[in-house]
Amino acid sequence: MKRLLTAALATLAATAAFAEYPDHPITVVVPFAAGGPTDKVARDLGVVLGQHLKQTVIIENVGGAGGTLGAAKVAKASPDGYTLLLHHIGMATSPALYRKMPYETLSDFEYLGMINEVPMTLIGRPTLPANNYAELVKWLEANKGKINLANAGLGAASHLCGLLFMQSLKLDMTTVPYKGTGPAMTDLLGGQVDIMCDQTTNTSSQIEGGKVKAYAVTTMAPLKTPALAKLPTLDSQGLKGFNVSIWHALYAPKGTPAAVVEKVNKALQASLKDADFIKKQEALGAVVITDGRVGSAEHKKFVAAEIAKWGPAIKAAGQYAD
Ligand code: ASP
Repeated sequence: MKRLLTAALATLAATAAFAEYPDHPITVVVPFAAGGPTDKVARDLGVVLGQHLKQTVIIENVGGAGGTLGAAKVAKASPDGYTLLLHHIGMATSPALYRKMPYETLSDFEYLGMINEVPMTLIGRPTLPANNYAELVKWLEANKGKINLANAGLGAASHLCGLLFMQSLKLDMTTVPYKGTGPAMTDLLGGQVDIMCDQTTNTSSQIEGGKVKAYAVTTMAPLKTPALAKLPTLDSQGLKGFNVSIWHALYAPKGTPAAVVEKVNKALQASLKDADFIKKQEALGAVVITDGRVGSAEHKKFVAAEIAKWGPAIKAAGQYAD
């Protein structure tokens, strides 16, 4: 009887504590450097999510190891709703790339809902002599062994896209890993690296301003965003079936109380309907998710399907880290 009462009191105390959630700022960990595409999504979402939760949302950049360092930090954080993770497709591709993972994608997190889908673009340094995709392929073949391909580390979206590109062309390149494609873009603009594949949320303004060479989009259909509408697909330029699109989503450490998960999910769903947020995303080529994947269950089901989809392709391409 006494034990039952103690347990009931403990539950009551926990419920009361979480009824106040959030009573202090929430940290959203971005597992890549500031200034890149994942960071941009998080900063835009953070403002509107904060409005709906009536609390400040702080963005913390924990870059390195293709996003796995930041994700591991959140997996090990206190499950109280004050440390969340905003990550992309790397949640589903990393397990196939690392022999040892610092967390279990499907069992170490609460799934808070998906945010957007973002196409990628293949771009080159401004001084690269190739002005279109056909010229790029010729240039890559003529410069075998000397090409530097920037990415955000093993497990990053840029890594996945670059890996599939190299495999499709049967060309090896030297991959140069950064903590995010924000700093990688700085080096590409400065000519320290040759090419990169990255989300339109990071590349569209550079493409529009003519600051980088743009060769292709990685989706099956051309994009509708005016700045990118003229860019042909890789599929239409010889790489049949090449189709890489990136998604972003929100997570909490496993064990975060259901009431908190529900509160954040509700705030996320309301944020995804915010006209200003939608406009900002669309201008950068991203599409805000409106289907069932904005809910926890569908989000988790989708990530499981993505793990099953990408695992064999990545293993066939054969690049691992320990
Ligand atoms: N776009 C990066 C990637 O390749 C990550 C980032 O810096 O946001 O995964």
